[in-house]
This record gives sequence, C-alpha cells and structure tokens, in this order.
Amino acid sequence: IFRDYIENYPKESDFNIREKTIHLEVPKDSNGVLVKNLYLSCDPYMCILMKKIKGPSVFTSYTPGSVTTGYGVAKVLDSGHPNFKKGDLVWGTTGWEEYSLVTKPEDLFKIDHTDVPLSYYTGILGMPGITAYAGFYEICAPKQGECVFVSAAAGAVGQLVGQFAKLMGCYVVGSAGSQEKVDLLKNKFGFDAAFNYKEEHDLDVALKRCFPEGIDIYFDNVGGKMLDAVLLNMRNHSRIALCGMISQYNLEQPEGVNNLMNLVYKRVRMEGFVVFDYYPLYAKFLDAVLPYIREEKIVYVEDVVEGLESGLAALVGLFNGHNIGKQVVVIARD
Ligand code: NDP
Repeated sequence: IFRDYIENYPKESDFNIREKTIHLEVPKDSNGVLVKNLYLSCDPYMCILMKKIKGPSVFTSYTPGSVTTGYGVAKVLDSGHPNFKKGDLVWGTTGWEEYSLVTKPEDLFKIDHTDVPLSYYTGILGMPGITAYAGFYEICAPKQGECVFVSAAAGAVGQLVGQFAKLMGCYVVGSAGSQEKVDLLKNKFGFDAAFNYKEEHDLDVALKRCFPEGIDIYFDNVGGKMLDAVLLNMRNHSRIALCGMISQYNLEQPEGVNNLMNLVYKRVRMEGFVVFDYYPLYAKFLDAVLPYIREEKIVYVEDVVEGLESGLAALVGLFNGHNIGKQVVVIARD
C-alpha cells in the first residue's frame, strides 16, 4: 500500500503491507480479470508516480492508501472478459499484491511463448524491451559502424540497447555505476568499452577517451550532467534518444543543461519518446527478439528477489544502483 506522496528519494517506509481475505473470483457484474501475480517489475517511473504530479503528464500519481501498481506477469484465475480465460498467462499493469482484480484487462498482453523464462516478460520481452527496441531502431535510426553511447547501460533497458547496437555492427560504449557493472558490459553483453561514471572526475574527458571521433547515437537513460557532457561530443547529424532521466527524478531542483547550443552547430536530432506509443509494434518486436534469445545472440541479466517485502527494498534500490540488470520480484513461480 502506497502511504503518501513523497518529495525526494523513495524509501521502503513509503509503503506498508496489509493482509486481507479476498474471494478468488471476478464479481458478477465486472468484466475484469482476476490474476495470481507471479513476477513484479521494479521500474524507475514508479517513483514519479509516488510524487504529486503537477501539470500535464503521461502519468497519474498513485493514490495514497491504495495498492501500488506496476508491470507484472500473472496467471488468470477467473475472467469476466471475453479475451481472457482461466489459465492464460499475461503481462501488463497489475497490483503489488498476491492476487489482483485487473479492471482494465484490455491493457494486458497475452503470453503465447513460454519456452523462455516467464520473468522475461517484465524485462526483455515486456515494457523495457519494447522501450529499448523502439528507442534504438525507431528514434536513433542506427547505421552499421556508427558510434553508440548508452548510459545506465547495465540496467533493464540499457543492456538491450547495447546488444541491439552490437548486432547492427556498431561501436558501443556504456556507462554504469560500479566496476562489477562495467565488467558485465564488456564481458557479458559485448560492449566495446565501458566506464564507471562515478569514478570519472570529468565526464567530457571520459567520453573523449572512448569516442575520439565523437558520438553518432546517444541513448540517454540518465539526463543531467551526463547529457550535458555528451552534448559536447556529438558528431554532425547525430541523434539522441531521450529515454529517461533517472538522475533527475528525485532532485528537488533538476540540474540545468548548459550545452544545448551544440545541437544547433552539429545539426543533432534529439527526440524524447514514450514506450506506450510503440505497443502496437509488440508483435513485430517479438518476431525480432525471440529468435535472438533462442539463438543466444542476446543475453539478459536479471536481479531477482523473492517476496513483496524484499520487493520494496529492490524498488528503492533502483535509485542508488543496487540492481544489476533487470530488477524482478518473484511473488509465486506458478
Ligand atoms: P535500470 O534497470 O537501468 O535501473 C536504474 C539504474 O539507473 C540503476 O541501476 C542505476 O545504475 C542508474 N541510476 C540510478 N540513479 C542514477 C543517477 N543519479 N545517475 C545515473 N544513473 C543512475 O532502469 P531501466 O532500464 O528500467 O530504465 C532506464 C531509464 O529508462 C530510466 O530513466 C527510465 O525512467 C527510462 N524508461 C523510459 C521509458 C520510456 O517510455 N521513455 C520506458 C522505460 C524506462 P548505475 O549503477 O549505473 O548508476
């Protein structure tokens, strides 16, 4: 249960856990779907929902005192909706609870391919996967041999963007917040180079070391100082996909960006995007990505914790880089 709006960084104590007895059936007059939640996804946008959102937004804040929602993988136990039946596996928005009555089942995706780990539908085959796919192929318009930089590169989205770029024959560099993550980027995901941004005194120098000829594509997951330093290193006619700005989400006063004029000089295209707009591409995305998983051309690292109580610490941990790979919470395995 989400307690109340927050101002800065989320804490475990912003939630509490409540027990309630429920009937495992959909109410007679409802076209909802009753699901047993199997895997829940920890995603950075959830901390935005914990704040009082001012002005127009794609998001709606959580309601204090209500069940926290998020993406998850679940099994249908009972259905009042013609598209779903008992036993179906689904992914989409559900509650942070053991069982949920999903009142907008039209937003759920049915899971047809179960030869891959089910938890993948919180990550590589779910919302973060489409984010990486749409952001890289649609927004960045990559070409073979281009120089690609990815921030928060060891996370749910970043690890995929880097591997998509390698499959296109690009030179790929990632930044992450620990030596362990840097090693993972180079040794597991096949990045050409990587650096720990927390250890670099000057991000501009680090980027010039990795990209002496400049950057063609920047996939921005963090915003802030990194984005500012990247702006100094973009090549003519390069592209920046603004995916997220996790370094800014919990600051009282977001940092400014000083080097925007470089967009003008270098004719850079910088474009934000929201994954929801790309859900119609889901079937195409699956056709592209499932073979990569089955043929082990793409690997996917998950950071898995067990149970709702551990899930709260895992969610909060996204904001200090505790997760290595996609952060998943197991509620039940079947
Ligand atoms: P991750 O799995 O990458 O987890 C978040 C990571 O961000 C942490 O592990 C940490 O890694 C890094 N981080 C945390 N705080 C900071 C900071 N102050 N500065 C730099 N890095 C920080 O998350 P996702 O892959 O799920 O999400 C990545 C980004 O994509 C987020 O900004 C998210 O909001 C955005 N997003 C956007 C979508 C869209 O539709 N546009 C959809 C989905 C995600 P480290 O140890 O490297 O610091």
